[in-house]
This record gives sequence, structure tokens and C-alpha cells, in this order.
Amino acid sequence: MKEIVVLSGKGGTGKTSIVGSFAALAKNKVLADCDVDAADLHLILNPEVRENHEFWSGQTAVIDGERCTQCGLCQELCHFGAIRDFVVDPISCEGCGFCFHICPADAITMKGNLSGEWLSLALNMVLSTMPD
Ligand code: SF4
Ligand code: SF4
Repeated sequence: MKEIVVLSGKGGTGKTSIVGSFAALAKNKVLADCDVDAADLHLILNPEVRENHEFWSGQTAVIDGERCTQCGLCQELCHFGAIRDFVVDPISCEGCGFCFHICPADAITMKGNLSGEWLSLALNMVLSTMPD
């Protein structure tokens, strides 16, 4: 089996269009769109979806306000500045879990992130993640 990887650090260079063209020409193929921000190869190929599954990846810290003693330790030590006023900003949280381990009140839990979905498609298979 031959494997082709198309990558670039710059958006808008036409990676997805190139892969879509190869996909149209190839007879037997397995395709994986691994773009973390906007996996949209399926938009070009417009295939029949056979299966649709949730894709879970990474974690986000959540503070239980009932258990939190407001000691301030997590806010002080979070390297990403993701905790303010004893609330975690889910956009800033990198899911490192440090606050979870140092909280003296066991007030922090790590919740899994629903990051998108993966699809099994009629034209062999495309794996794709798409934010809602
Ligand atoms: S370390 Fe725990 S108890 Fe202290 S402020 Fe953070 S969540 Fe609250
Ligand atoms: S998991 Fe890491 S990044 Fe997220 S709030 Fe806790 S210490 Fe900060």
C-alpha cells in the first residue's frame, strides 16, 4: 500500500483540494483528514455517510463551587491563566490536569472534550473531525 501525506503550516494553500483531486482519481483508498481546526475534506467529496460517531479528545478542568474553599492555589499556579474568580475558562484551559492534582479540597475534576465526530463513508473510508 502507498501512503501520501499532504501537509503545510499555512492555511489556504490548497491542501484539501489536492487531496480531493487525488481521492477522485484513486480506485482503492483510505482517507484521513487530520486538520485539527477545520477538517472539511468531506465537503469536497460529498460522500454517502454510513456511520457517524462522536470524537472525544483532551480534557477540560471543572471546579465544583460547593467543594472549593477559594484558597486561590489553582489560579496562582495554572500556567495558562485559565482560572479566574474560581471558574475555569474552557477556551484557555489546556487540560494539563495540574490544578486537579494540587487542589487541596478535591474540588476539581477533569471532563472529556467532545471535539467533533468521525465518519465512515461509502467511498471506502474518510476519518474526519468537525467542530459543531
Ligand atoms: S485549588 Fe481547589 S480549593 Fe483552591 S481555589 Fe482552586 S478549586 Fe478552590
Ligand atoms: S487543567 Fe491545566 S490549563 Fe486547565 S485550568 Fe487546570 S492547570 Fe490550568
